[in-house]
Amino acid sequence: MVITIELNKRQEKILQIVKDNGPITGEHIADKLNLTRATLRPDLAILTMAGYLEARPRVGYFYTGKTGSQLLTDKVKKFQVKDYQSIPVVVNESVSVYDAICTMFLEDVGTLFVVDEGAALVGVLSRKDLLRASLGKQELNSIPVNIIMTRMPNITMCLKEDSLIDVARKLIEKQIDALPIVKETERGIEVIGRITKTNITKALVALADDELV
Ligand code: ADP
Repeated sequence: MVITIELNKRQEKILQIVKDNGPITGEHIADKLNLTRATLRPDLAILTMAGYLEARPRVGYFYTGKTGSQLLTDKVKKFQVKDYQSIPVVVNESVSVYDAICTMFLEDVGTLFVVDEGAALVGVLSRKDLLRASLGKQELNSIPVNIIMTRMPNITMCLKEDSLIDVARKLIEKQIDALPIVKETERGIEVIGRITKTNITKALVALADDELV
């Protein structure tokens, strides 16, 4: 859905009329502007959808008193993880560091999630975890990833209904790049998605382009 936050001249006029006279019906707003109710309908719909006006049946339009930046803040807080998530890439805890490095390159991701035989989340592997393991003289083919991963219960996770801003705060606070999106099942905590700094950057660009979902 595209919502224009910048208002046109007529929308500004409508807003002023409702501010001065509200609650006021669409009919009365149209009279004051010497326009028909039908002509005004799209403008009233935009102003209501964007949150500047509130419509009450049989009463009319109210001015909500919210400024453009307040409305933008409201909107940003409503961004949910599920609308911006990516597909998670998981490896089994028994795979070697070498194979995990290959998976990271092939799948083109910066964070891998590690699961046990029952597909429950047990760890996280970042680029630096794998680099660190590669610094020693060890045989990378013979070290399983569960030796070097960050493990439960120290994993920061989120749910798909969580707000994107809460996730962004966690990424900053914990100084990490990605969170697994999880759900609880009878088998344990299952990974159903991935949210990264890139997803949050995309949300910022969508915001600037007014593509508010
Ligand atoms: P990089 O190591 O490439 O800088 P991160 O900043 O994401 O990537 O990772 C830093 C450390 O935090 C790593 O040791 C990694 O295992 C750990 N880590 C990454 N993501 C999480 C997470 N969601 N929960 C807990 N620890 C994490």
